[in-house]
Amino acid sequence: MIKNKKVFVLGMGKSGVSVAKLLASDNEVLITDIKCDDYNLIKELENLGVSVVITQNQSEVFDSSFDYVIKNPGIKLDHPVVIRANKLNIPVITELEVGYMYLPKVKIIGITGSNGKTTTTTLIYEMLKAASLPVHLAGNIGIPLCSIIDKVKDGDILVIEVSSHQLVNLDKFKCDISVLTNLSEVHLDHFGTYDNYKRAKMKIFNNQTDKDLAVLNKNDAEVVKLTKKIPAHKVYFSSESSDNADIYFNGRGIVYNDIEVVNVSDIRVKGVHNYENIMAAMLVAFEFGITMEVIREVLDNFAGVPHRLEFVTRIHGRDFYNDSKATNVNSTITALKSFDNNVVLILGGLDRGHSFEGLKPYLGHVINIVCYGETKNRIKKFADECQIDVTVTDNLEEATKAAYNISSEGETVLLSPACASWDQYDNFEQRGDEFKKIVEGFR
Ligand code: ADP
Repeated sequence: MIKNKKVFVLGMGKSGVSVAKLLASDNEVLITDIKCDDYNLIKELENLGVSVVITQNQSEVFDSSFDYVIKNPGIKLDHPVVIRANKLNIPVITELEVGYMYLPKVKIIGITGSNGKTTTTTLIYEMLKAASLPVHLAGNIGIPLCSIIDKVKDGDILVIEVSSHQLVNLDKFKCDISVLTNLSEVHLDHFGTYDNYKRAKMKIFNNQTDKDLAVLNKNDAEVVKLTKKIPAHKVYFSSESSDNADIYFNGRGIVYNDIEVVNVSDIRVKGVHNYENIMAAMLVAFEFGITMEVIREVLDNFAGVPHRLEFVTRIHGRDFYNDSKATNVNSTITALKSFDNNVVLILGGLDRGHSFEGLKPYLGHVINIVCYGETKNRIKKFADECQIDVTVTDNLEEATKAAYNISSEGETVLLSPACASWDQYDNFEQRGDEFKKIVEGFR
């Protein structure tokens, strides 16, 4: 625990605020950001004795008298305060590390990976909850660990989504069960090199011993290579073959101990990538003795995490899927690979000048591309080059209505925009919610 220390909290995001509140009573806490319009929040923090400093120049309020810097995970590692703290040998940690210091005797399941973190985390949580275990959800999923400390009791289980940004400054934090879904070259703007990123990801196995467990993706060569020497006991899932896998997908269902325990028809979410997430979650669930009956019930109810290839509804024989989180071409490819029936694909959003070329090999079942937003003209040009019918609209409402009219019974309308939402929305959640609202209007 941190007591009688001087603490510098860098960033007033959810995690910064929660750690400042947790530490306020026993420490001298300063929290700073370059902007904050939430005057109620500032007041609330000040009432707890926290000094709130809104300034463009945060290093001006930082000096050697501080004992800790607690950095918002999103703030880059070359931030002037971080550089100075490193020079002064002042520990730079993240909220997760602080939360860890305050936990009673619990079991921690930590989930990381380049893709599938939120889905796998949610699945594990749902399975444990359905088995009536004392479980809490926390971490990168939007619930800072520090914000739930007072609810956690001895013997509870914590399911924590851990991002690479949170991992990089971890020290004592330890998972009883760690899950690494996959690795790909993302967040290079933050980490500089892929090696740095991978090094951060490997911290999910920090402090584990042979009494702990690591759930790993057998098909990801990088994951397999990097985890060769970790001390934790390793279990593997595979969507490609049964070789050396503890659980695998055989093209029709999920096989465990030579028995097909789940058939794809028992699973509501689409796509092999989701079967991977499910298998990872099942390996964790088995550690707690959760029965197949409970797992099947969860899979039957799980329509996906909102905005990640989320099944919205079936209306007049058309299935509507909301994949608003797909803000780049790779995510849209993952979505397209999940369907084999005819798809009307809605693309569009913020124009970053990125190419749509990568989609080309995956458009075989796309009968029409409906485009909207800043990128609409570039998408039209791309669709014409691919010789796919294209419908140009101005906004998501027009696009969704057009997609509905174009589609027929047995077909899918898929919003997987391959662009960020910021040309017309505050975030991808708002865009996905609007899509769902428009779809519900077709009833
Ligand atoms: P994260 O939390 O890591 O961003 P999510 O579970 O929120 O991952 O899923 C985000 C997107 O990542 C999904 O819409 C899908 O396109 C892709 N995805 C999810 N799971 C996987 C997986 N296991 N492998 C590859 N891509 C995945």
